[in-house]
Amino acid sequence: MKIFKNQNQAVRNPITILRSIVFFYAGLLPMVHADPAADGIIDTHWHAMACQDDALDQVTSWMEEKGVIHAIVHPLGKSRPKNDVERRKMLAHFKAHDGRIERFCIIKPNEVGSIEEAVKILETEKRDGAIGFGEHYGEGLMFDAPANMRLFAACQKVGLPIMFHMDDKQNKDTADFKHLAHALDSYPKTIFIAHGPNWWKRFGSSNCDRMLSEHTNLYADISAGSGATALSKDRTYTAEFMQRHRKKLLFGTDCGWWSFRKNAKPAPQFELMRTLDIPDDVKIDIYRGNAQRLFGF
Ligand SMILES: [Zn+2]
Repeated sequence: MKIFKNQNQAVRNPITILRSIVFFYAGLLPMVHADPAADGIIDTHWHAMACQDDALDQVTSWMEEKGVIHAIVHPLGKSRPKNDVERRKMLAHFKAHDGRIERFCIIKPNEVGSIEEAVKILETEKRDGAIGFGEHYGEGLMFDAPANMRLFAACQKVGLPIMFHMDDKQNKDTADFKHLAHALDSYPKTIFIAHGPNWWKRFGSSNCDRMLSEHTNLYADISAGSGATALSKDRTYTAEFMQRHRKKLLFGTDCGWWSFRKNAKPAPQFELMRTLDIPDDVKIDIYRGNAQRLFGF
């Protein structure tokens, strides 16, 4: 019996069969659990000695290793430029990593005497590429102390989100976050990103949960030991918390130049996020979606 009209058809048919098999399995692909981190993570909380020549190259290597596509570097007292020469170097280093590594800027509360003075500095910083203010340490101050509030006022005027640290001695607050609430209500157009021990210390008492629900301009990053430890304690509550505030949580590690030391522990946030039982689209928001929206990446 003649099965094929001609030789070509005989050759084509096995190909058609093979193609059908490929299409069939490709159709099943969405059912396979895709990794929500596969398209990249944005680490919104990094510290680098950005005035030093190879510091951001080191960050880039770390990013490639971890699947981080974008990182935000926050200056600390130690790593910020100390003079004009260092500042020019720092700016050149960020320019060389444009589109991959961004920077925030800082002013210490006692470095300015007025909102206008702070605005002038921040306008220059923004013009020179800063996309936010922080890491803000209000050393020895209550969160809403006048010296802090004038910096927040300046950030609102210039249009910079603020990432702040909170502990017993810096940006101090009561357990119910009364002072933070005062600042959030006073500068409603400014996004405040919470971080640090005394923020996460109140996670178990659901005060973090309440604050994020009550204040549209409050975000939080999941960085540092304080973030990872709090979020690892009760994973069911963490999963609910993350779903409730899925548009206001940012992935961050709080890694820095110390993370390259031989005995440095890996940032726990990667493993935490990977193993949390939350929907993939919520993970994507936290891994990168929220940062993309907030910073316009
Ligand atoms: Zn930090």
